[in-house]
Formats: sequence, C-alpha cells, structure tokens
Amino acid sequence: MNNGSMKAVGVIPAKREVALFQHAMPHVGAPTELKIRTLEVGVCGTDREICSFVYGTPPQGSDYLVLGHEALGEVVEIGPGVTQFKPGDLVVPTVRRPCMHDHCPSCRDARQDFCATGDFTERGIKMTHGFMTEYFVEDQVHLNLVPPHLRDVAVLVEPLTVAEKALAQVWQVQQRLPWNNGATTETARGAGKTAVVLGAGPVGILGAMALVVSGFKTFVYSRSPEPNPKADLVNSIGAKYISCQTTPLAEFARQVGRIDLVYEAVGVARIAFDVMTVLGLNGVYVFTGIPHHQPAIPIEADSLMRQVVLMNQAIIGTVNADRPAFESAIRHLAIFKQRWPEALGHVITGRHPLESYRELLLGKATGIKNVITLG
Ligand code: BGC
Repeated sequence: MNNGSMKAVGVIPAKREVALFQHAMPHVGAPTELKIRTLEVGVCGTDREICSFVYGTPPQGSDYLVLGHEALGEVVEIGPGVTQFKPGDLVVPTVRRPCMHDHCPSCRDARQDFCATGDFTERGIKMTHGFMTEYFVEDQVHLNLVPPHLRDVAVLVEPLTVAEKALAQVWQVQQRLPWNNGATTETARGAGKTAVVLGAGPVGILGAMALVVSGFKTFVYSRSPEPNPKADLVNSIGAKYISCQTTPLAEFARQVGRIDLVYEAVGVARIAFDVMTVLGLNGVYVFTGIPHHQPAIPIEADSLMRQVVLMNQAIIGTVNADRPAFESAIRHLAIFKQRWPEALGHVITGRHPLESYRELLLGKATGIKNVITLG
C-alpha cells in the first residue's frame, strides 16, 4: 500500500475476469465521512455469482467493481462533522445506498432496503465499490458501531441481518392475528411456536440462532445426511437438524408438528415450494434465497393457492436490510456469543489472506462462512 493506491479484489465484467489489482486510495471528502481500515470481509454466494457474471455492475465510468459487502473495519480518520464515531472504533457498514429520486418515499426515509424505483446502488454488488480492499470511505449514516468484544465474530453481522429483517417483518405481519403470546421480553416472543429453517448455510444457521434466541422451537431442514459438522452445530444450539435426504417431507412434517414460520435460506425452489405445502394455519413463510436461473419446475399451483387462502398464510420475500436490522444483529451476536461461544466461532470455517481470492470466489464452496482477513 502507498498513499495513492491499495490492493483490491474485484471483477472486470467486460473481460469476464476476477482479479487482484491496484485501486485508488479513498479520501475523506464530505464532513460526515470516515476512513475505515478493512479488517475482515465475508465471502458469500452473491460474490460467487458476481464472479460468474450473472450480475454485478461496476460504478459509472469504471470498468471494474471491487467486490465485498460483508465487512468489519476500524475507523482511522473522521471528517469534522462526524458525531457518532471516533478513530479506533469498530464498524460494520450497511450495503445498500439510496436512489436519488424525490418520489422514492423509502429512500427519502432511509429505507433504501425497500427502494421503490430500483435505482439504489449496493456496495460490492451494484454500481458502488465494495470492501474487499484495504481501506474504504463511508458516511456515518451507513455505519454501525460494534463493541470490541465482538471483533472476532462481527463479520457475521451482515449475513445475520437477513434474518433480522425477516423477523422484524414476521412480527409486523403476524399482528394481523392474535399471534402474540403476551411476551414482554424479546427472547420469549416466539415461545410456543415452531419455526423451520431451510438450509444450513451461514444465513440459515445464523437465522436458526436468532429464532432459538427469540424462543421458537426451531428445526433446520437441509440436505446433508447426519453426521456432519453443520448438523452438530445446529443441534448444539438447541435447534434440531433433520436431513431431507434421509427424512422425506411427510415424515419431517409429522416430526415437527404444526409449522408457524418457515425461514427459507436455501435458494432452491424445489425444496422451498415442497415445504410450503406443510406450512401451518395462519403461518408465515419468508423467502430469502436467490435461486439461479434454471429450467421451470412443476408445482401444484391450484392446491397451493387454495391452501394459502384457506389457511390464512402470508408469503413474504425479503432482500437487504435497514439500520435497525444491523443494530438487532449486533445485539443478537452478543447474545449468541455469550450463549454459544463455540458454536458461533464455528460458523466462521476459514480465515484467508486477500491473495486466496481465487479459490474462495471461483473454487468449490466449502465450510460455512469463509472470511478474508486484512487487518
Ligand atoms: C446482500 C444484500 C443485497 C442482495 C442483492 C445479498 O447478498 O446481502 O444486501 O441486497 O445480495 O443484491
């Protein structure tokens, strides 16, 4: 690194290349901006998809896009208008930046996760460079303070926000009926209810942790037969892992009983729609996965529609997350760390230097969450 440039990993879509290159060192411009030294960046399915050039768009005027949207950094410099942070603070940035249109009520209200025009940008994904580089500059409104004792796990904040935003919507949507059990503490809100998580990747496992902490009886339905490390992790937090390879859906539904909530984190339509058929009365189903484009599959559309109507079910799709979701993720991570220090640590299965980007982004997906460590 020198004053002018630094190392970065990104894609050059026009050449279909994934590369480690030099990228201009950013500088604090506006008074409310901060310069942050990147400590860790998580690698996720979205990054891998961008590397297969399915999507991912460079900023205007750039032929490359710096990757990375799951980051933890340390503040190294602050603009004169920064009120909420100081050098040395640990921060996690949000991902989406608002569109510029006055007629977008969501973006004008700092709810760009519900942008109504589609002209939002996303760091490391859509038209704004990401965090797979040594330093980045960000406005304080897009940063979240992380307590120092979470440094080793805070790179998991962003993937956990998927569940946080999903749960926030579940609580809201289910206000349509007397779903609330009268619980006054956050940790008892799901008591007496059953949740099913589809998939045991990082979004599924972190979601299962959030559901257990919220009091739900939680099942994780995923592919790999037991024994396997993900199943061990899931069982160790008090959820129950069941393999769809060894337990067919009807048998799974019999074991689980009435399903109040399905949190889909598998990104595969076949299993997602199959499980929808066993959602319970007044149940809520949240899709978070983004499937690859694939040939059409048959579903029993009439019976599914009949079921959704006659059983008062709510089907929700959710993407991205607002600041409150990041704040809940940070709160929840502290609870997870206290309750299951070992299991939480095991969600991060590898820490790698930036130079290992090729195997991480283009090689076979392994482990649960792989992280690039810079700091
Ligand atoms: C990110 C979201 C983003 C979505 C779609 C996900 O991997 O976590 O923040 O909105 O991709 O681009």
